[in-house]
Amino acid sequence: MSDCIFCKIVKKDIPSEILYEDEWVLAFKDLNPQAPTHLLFIPKIHTENFIEAIEVPNIYDKIFNAIANLVKEKKWDTNGFRVVSNCGAKAGQSVFHLHFHLLGGRELTWPSG
Ligand code: 5GP
Ligand code: ZN
Repeated sequence: MSDCIFCKIVKKDIPSEILYEDEWVLAFKDLNPQAPTHLLFIPKIHTENFIEAIEVPNIYDKIFNAIANLVKEKKWDTNGFRVVSNCGAKAGQSVFHLHFHLLGGRELTWPSG
């Protein structure tokens, strides 16, 4: 999608701090971090949200494997992080290209609000 900010990040038209990349998945630091560790994991292919992405074969496997592998590789504390996807404007989604937030490095409260 030509006007999608995350598609532009995938194409490297917009710079980002990339921590992980493979054929399907890109992970980069959130521009406005809400925790010491705040990454966004996205499929390289454009799909709007968690429900639309069901059309993309194996996409959740690929994203969740990337998240778990990166946490393990970086030796981040596995006691206290959160993976969340806001689906729709009412849930706070502001970029309509599927993404999972990985938040960690501080105490996280629940419910998230
Ligand atoms: P949402 O609100 O859709 O769940 O999350 C979108 C996230 O994307 C926000 O946390 C916001 O800070 C982040 N974001 C928006 N634009 C950019 C950008 O250009 N670069 C990066 N790295 N993050 C962005
Ligand atoms: Zn996109």
